[in-house]
Amino acid sequence: MGLLTTGAPLSWTETVPHLPSLKAQGIEQFIKLWSLKGSLANFAMKFGDEIEYILVKMDPETKNARVLCEAEKVLEQLKAAAMEATPGEQSMAWNPEFASYMVEGTPGVPYEDSIAALLSVEPNMVARRNAVQQQLGETEICLSISFPSLGVGTFTHPPAAADEGNPEAAFSLLWPQEAVFNGHVRFKNLSKNITDRRRSKVSIHVPIFMDEATPSPYMDSPTTSGETENWNLEARPDHILMDHMGFGMGLCCLQVTFQAADVDEARMLYDQLTPITPVLLALSAATPCVRGKLVDLDSRWSIISQSVDDRTPEERGMVESATVTAIPKSRYGTTSCYIASSSSRFNDTSLLIDEDSFRKMVEAGIDEEMSRHVAHLFIRSPLQVFKERIEQDATKSTEHFETIQSSNWMNMRFKPPPLDAPGMGWRVEFRPTEVQLTDFENAAYCVFIMLITRVIKEKKLDFLVPISMVSENMERAQQRDAVLHGKFFFRHSVEKVSDSAESGEDIKEMSINSIVNGEVGGFPGLIPLIQEYLTEVVTDESTHVRLNAYLTLLSKRASGSVKTLARWTRDFVREHPAYAKDSDVNSEIVYDLMKEMDAISNHNKECEALLGSK
Ligand code: ADP
Ligand code: MG
Ligand code: MG
Ligand code: MG
Ligand code: MG
Repeated sequence: MGLLTTGAPLSWTETVPHLPSLKAQGIEQFIKLWSLKGSLANFAMKFGDEIEYILVKMDPETKNARVLCEAEKVLEQLKAAAMEATPGEQSMAWNPEFASYMVEGTPGVPYEDSIAALLSVEPNMVARRNAVQQQLGETEICLSISFPSLGVGTFTHPPAAADEGNPEAAFSLLWPQEAVFNGHVRFKNLSKNITDRRRSKVSIHVPIFMDEATPSPYMDSPTTSGETENWNLEARPDHILMDHMGFGMGLCCLQVTFQAADVDEARMLYDQLTPITPVLLALSAATPCVRGKLVDLDSRWSIISQSVDDRTPEERGMVESATVTAIPKSRYGTTSCYIASSSSRFNDTSLLIDEDSFRKMVEAGIDEEMSRHVAHLFIRSPLQVFKERIEQDATKSTEHFETIQSSNWMNMRFKPPPLDAPGMGWRVEFRPTEVQLTDFENAAYCVFIMLITRVIKEKKLDFLVPISMVSENMERAQQRDAVLHGKFFFRHSVEKVSDSAESGEDIKEMSINSIVNGEVGGFPGLIPLIQEYLTEVVTDESTHVRLNAYLTLLSKRASGSVKTLARWTRDFVREHPAYAKDSDVNSEIVYDLMKEMDAISNHNKECEALLGSK
């Protein structure tokens, strides 16, 4: 989930006196990086995915499924095994994630820019899943999902109780410190510094799915005893309440990073992919159960956003202040601006920027659009600063820049080349996709994102809509069954930049089906655009068949003829004999759900409703 460095981290109180210097150094580092790397050119288009997995302990006797908090041990073993891999074996790399039950796996080296490389994606994912599974015991499983009942009773193995009085545990009534990854200082420190900066626990509200027997109004009571005295947060009617960063950052996703030829192409791809992010969020919806309840949303986005919201009461506009500027959203949130100079007319919302940072970048000769993007990132505070490295040499380090950059979590990330990696170019990361249950699906989403990127590049397509519409689309994309019922602002002629684009005449509200599969006489559709491109570049029949299987899955998800994981899970719960139609996903249902998911993803049990007929 971001930058990992070692040392003794500063608390929030210790960080405060250094803030002006830390930001000044961060900007100086970016300016230096820009001057050293800004003119790099002619890089090949490489790419790589990231998948987050959870470890689950199954107890067949009591029919309980709990998250297995052994990622530290499992990661060590995975890393050791990866070191010993011989040529010809799948190469993989492993990273820690926020929770002690999560691991993140990527290909060991990025994929090259070829159609053949697209066929390597799924086998590598299969190998990764097997590698994790090999480290686990008989009643332990690895799943690429977000766990449905975090925070419910004793949800960890080994069992750990939430310690509400413990400031280190960010005072959560529901979340034990043992569920935060312990092998790296970043995670616990970040969680504590968010709480300390905010001056309260984080407060996460998710609308409950009102079923036939759900109490109405539904009022959440966070402890089993119904005791709410120490809750200190206000429950909202008909909402579930959660009080720890782990409820968001402990959920899983699928990300894809691309390398562009040069900085200008990276800026173009960042912008062009931005309007596509909400489409992928709706199309990949996978999170209908939260804290053991069916919720009225289908994806994790707004939960994570609330889980890391470090804004002070003044910044959130809860308390009036003559000196503090209100900030309209969390540091995890929808993209605020396009970054290519030619896109600036679509930046239709007022953008908060750190004025001092902006001025310095412009004075150093960086163009206004790029300066504005970075100055917007810099409205946030660094939350992870190490005592040993407060003062830095900008020719040797970009750590203060990266600390702020890597804790601005938006739809896309613009990744500059690291100072010390001569072979690496400018990259962009596609971030909102929900992780899928099976390797086939994850490969399909990854390949789709890769192919649409190639099509944008080759055909010079133009998907830009005003950035305010992208934000609106992100809201809509999270709604229950958005893939079937949502309407999204989208360009219906993308062939070239036309004059009417400026007046908005090109933009319509379209269903995901129209956007993905196209409309008769209207928008051609993302998949037909990809298919047209593939007929030009793929000559080999078996490659065509494989890539088509991926595209068919996404096409069917868009048309509704196969279910999203969110819909499939929701139906599984509602059809389970132990479901009392009261929104409660009890432990027996969770256990059976995990068993079924394990059968499908680890033992290739057929599931036509989710995957279509293969
Ligand atoms: P982060 O967590 O910061 O997003 P990770 O290192 O976890 O970064 O994942 C980055 C992804 O980018 C991996 O899939 C990796 O294979 C891929 N990658 C690495 N180098 C390049 C490159 N030069 N171009 C494109 N992708 C790359
Ligand atoms: Mg991650
Ligand atoms: Mg990563
Ligand atoms: Mg405890
Ligand atoms: Mg990433």
